[in-house]
Amino acid sequence: MIRFAATLAIMGFCGASLPLSADVNLAVVNRIKDQAFNHSQVVDYLHYLADENGPRLAASPGYRHAANWAVDTLKREGIESARLDPFGPIGRSWSWSSIAVQMVEPQVTSLNAVPLAWSAGTDGTITAPVVFAPLWDDDEDPDQSDLVALAQRIETYKQQYAGKLAGRIVLLSPRRTFELPSEPETQRWAAADLEDMKSARDPLLNDVYEWPLLRLPVDTDERWLQYEVVPVEIQSDYSDRHDRLMDRLVRYLNDEKAAAVIMTDSRGGGGVIFAESFGSHMAGTSIPPPAVQLMPEHYNRLVRLLERDVPVTLSVNVEATFPSESAEGANVIAELPGKGKRREVVMMGAHLDSWHAGTGATDNAAGVAVVMEAMRILRTLNLSLDRTVRLGLWDGEEIGHLGSRAYVREHLGNPVTMALKPEHETFSVYFNIDTGSGRTRGILTQANDMVKPIFSELMQPFEELGITAVVPRNDWGTDHQAFDAVGLPAFDLLQDQLDYWSHTHHSNVDTVDHVLPQDLMVSAAFLAALMYDAATRDELMPREPLPQPLPEPQPLPEILQDTGAAGDPLNPVG
Ligand SMILES: [Zn+2]
Repeated sequence: MIRFAATLAIMGFCGASLPLSADVNLAVVNRIKDQAFNHSQVVDYLHYLADENGPRLAASPGYRHAANWAVDTLKREGIESARLDPFGPIGRSWSWSSIAVQMVEPQVTSLNAVPLAWSAGTDGTITAPVVFAPLWDDDEDPDQSDLVALAQRIETYKQQYAGKLAGRIVLLSPRRTFELPSEPETQRWAAADLEDMKSARDPLLNDVYEWPLLRLPVDTDERWLQYEVVPVEIQSDYSDRHDRLMDRLVRYLNDEKAAAVIMTDSRGGGGVIFAESFGSHMAGTSIPPPAVQLMPEHYNRLVRLLERDVPVTLSVNVEATFPSESAEGANVIAELPGKGKRREVVMMGAHLDSWHAGTGATDNAAGVAVVMEAMRILRTLNLSLDRTVRLGLWDGEEIGHLGSRAYVREHLGNPVTMALKPEHETFSVYFNIDTGSGRTRGILTQANDMVKPIFSELMQPFEELGITAVVPRNDWGTDHQAFDAVGLPAFDLLQDQLDYWSHTHHSNVDTVDHVLPQDLMVSAAFLAALMYDAATRDELMPREPLPQPLPEPQPLPEILQDTGAAGDPLNPVG
């Protein structure tokens, strides 16, 4: 996901008026807006997905339930082609139903916690003494962005704590340090921010990544910049390798018979629990001891007590189940068939999977609701479409963009070898939405100069709603990258951040309360207008030259040899 340095934005949308080309069908845009604003279903979709269905962790029963609901709902709206599109094994299935973490000594009190995905349940209540045994020191980067350093750290850790963890609850994170917030926690882009984004980055002087990728820059700005240019297959290889490396630690904690693991997180301003996984969804990896993420303030209290030599005892009860060792991944696909150019395809999508701490309302039920609503609008208006309009709701985005990458390999081409499929030729464009629930304010062009005038023109009827920015940069961290990787025009919408990064992204407060319905309505109208234009304009969306196949990877250092051969897809999909 993209993050720009932001200033306080004041709501107030305006932009310079340019003469509108006759190419934009204003009568259709007007009808689309009427459907989106006066007959909206978008909030209903959101409420179902987040409140009724709840979290949709990849490979979990909650995901499959939501996918079936999406198929049924699209069919009910008259989109008969809606279907599940299975793509092979996606990994271990896991879900949780309850958690209770209590301090027993030195004082009886409840602590706020969320289980970490793919870790074991407790099989009843565990009561055990607590030991502070952090993998990282206070001043170390807990992201461990250097795989060799992480491997060495795990080896040192094994020596340091041998025989000291048995039967204990292990505090594995470093102490969380708090800084007073220096930026507002909820932000809309101000006109000046959007203007800044219209300037391109300076060209890079050197390659900024290696292959296989073994480390990420420590500096946050450099890291974001690197992510803008590293091919998605190389990014995925890095994170799969990171998971395999952490499996060494998991095996050690199991061997040492640690009773449970407690962690906390460095994100946010406190009071919120951001939680993903400990252990991996990948089949063949070890299942960790029960592992929970504690609210950082509660975590720090435990650390302070232990540092004052006050013994701490906790009781932990987590109910978690593993319904299957190898669940099947499945995207949701639906189409409105084109008339004159039926074989040509314009596509939009959002990921349907989520993390499990909240209800995945902003990440990404909001995006799914917008995409389904855009499809409903196009169907309800019964617009004449030359090209086929296709919708994709992706599985497994949060664990490596697995659904969209599998789809692209199956239908469009292989991003490693650049062997292309026949459908590549007739595929026009893919639009993605996945940065929380904030209003769409523009589009990132992935440095494709040819689409700039097209998008500028399409934004004009939405200028008064705040959609004005054509941003000549790469967005990353979501599903459009799979399409971009095989040289197809694929774009992520630029959205207001609201409190996505400060509060809701992968947290226990990712709930419907943080969604502004009108923002979804505006995004759905704009997306429907984009799709209508792409489905009816004379030509396919202009393409950049095709990317080269990925080069042969360099050999891995000795210490990383068992994380998979360099260049082998560790988690092959599609
Ligand atoms: Zn997301």
